Amino acid sequence: MAVATAPLRHFIFTDEHEQLRESIHAFVVKELAPHSEEWEETTFPDWVFARMGELGFLGLTMPDAYGGQGGDYYYSLVRAEELSYARSGGLSMGVAVQTDMCLPPLLAFGTEEQKQRYLVPSVRGETIACLGITEPDAGSDVAGIKTRAVRDGDEWVINGSKTFITNGHRSDYIILVTKTDPEAGHDGFTLFIVDMDLPGVIREKKLVKLGMHASDTALLAFQDVRVPETAVLGSVGKGFQQIMWELQGERMVGAALAIAGAQRLFEQTLEYAGERNAFGRPIGKFQVSRHKFADMATKLEAARQLNYTTAWRFANGEYPVREISMAKLFASRVACEVADECLQIYGGAGYMREYGVERAWRDLRLNRIGAGTDEIMLEVIGRSYGL
Ligand SMILES: Cc1cc2nc3c(=O)[nH]c(=O)nc-3n(C[C@H](O)[C@H](O)[C@H](O)COP(=O)(O)OP(=O)(O)OC[C@H]3O[C@@H](n4cnc5c(N)ncnc54)[C@H](O)[C@@H]3O)c2cc1C
Repeated sequence: MAVATAPLRHFIFTDEHEQLRESIHAFVVKELAPHSEEWEETTFPDWVFARMGELGFLGLTMPDAYGGQGGDYYYSLVRAEELSYARSGGLSMGVAVQTDMCLPPLLAFGTEEQKQRYLVPSVRGETIACLGITEPDAGSDVAGIKTRAVRDGDEWVINGSKTFITNGHRSDYIILVTKTDPEAGHDGFTLFIVDMDLPGVIREKKLVKLGMHASDTALLAFQDVRVPETAVLGSVGKGFQQIMWELQGERMVGAALAIAGAQRLFEQTLEYAGERNAFGRPIGKFQVSRHKFADMATKLEAARQLNYTTAWRFANGEYPVREISMAKLFASRVACEVADECLQIYGGAGYMREYGVERAWRDLRLNRIGAGTDEIMLEVIGRSYGL
């Protein structure tokens, strides 16, 4: 009897999604996966963006008018899932920052001129974007950020710093969250698009991390950076609401990446458990291992289905913040549990670099922190019940 390890599909996917899945899969396996070990040392190269742009994979959900494919939201999930075959969490994250964190707010809030100047080249993979929310003194507490933008004539002057910024070293521009009116509470924030080669933008050190080594993570400083009024993304004073909207898409793609990464590790471990013998039988044949696989498969399936159904609601015009938070929380926890259990099943080999298990374990750990920690997800969910 064949062992069903492939992710079960959901009613959200059509034949077109599946065809796209096949082409992204072929590209990832042929052109990205062979380099994943090397890119742990060097970070993945910029040509990945250019190549994905050339193949039409960056603008899957962007309108034709801006060079995209005009696909629905599920195209994003397909891309995230297939990128997991590169077995490089850092690569998947670096690409997702562009496709799922920077392009959507540009499309939703940008002026026509901004879309032509920033969105179109990024869809082509000619420019690289990053998103700056987190600061040395404020991460979970987004409202506590200190980066200030002050109007000066018909310009804005920006001062502050951002940290843990993915793509920060390689990016051409940043979507920057600033405070423009400290007295105005949640109505005192504004987003800006800031070119990274402007005077006063300083790319400080490259940060050294536990995992996601294929991505670059930057500490950035902004010292008297002058930008014109046309650099405002969306409305002055509405940046908090805009970035909270952005975070919903970021969390859903984060959940998809977490589940897909853990699913790849599950499949790899299942194969290993069939080949590795102890006490005269494959380790997978011990009842304890069989039950571990059964538990992991059940949790992965539940996480995936929750994310798909939540994505369906999102794609149909709802704004299901509670369910998005649940999907992100559950997927992140399941991914970390699966990674830990797989490493255990591998035994000492799981601890060695050559099998790639420890890398997946390190990479997946980020999910419980990035894009909103487990604790923040619990806060959002709990508060949604009026508590
Ligand atoms: C590899 C990596 C890449 C990243 N990429 C980006 C990026 O591209 N752009 C960007 O802007 N950010 C990025 N981040 C930042 C990430 O989103 C933050 O790390 C995350 O939001 C948590 O913020 P913090 O690290 O400041 O933790 P803190 O906010 O300092 O939290 C520390 C601890 O306190 C807990 N805590 C905080 N508030 C509460 C509360 N109200 N109730 C209960 N517990 C609480 C947290 O859950 C956590 O356990 C990245 C981070 C990493 C590690």
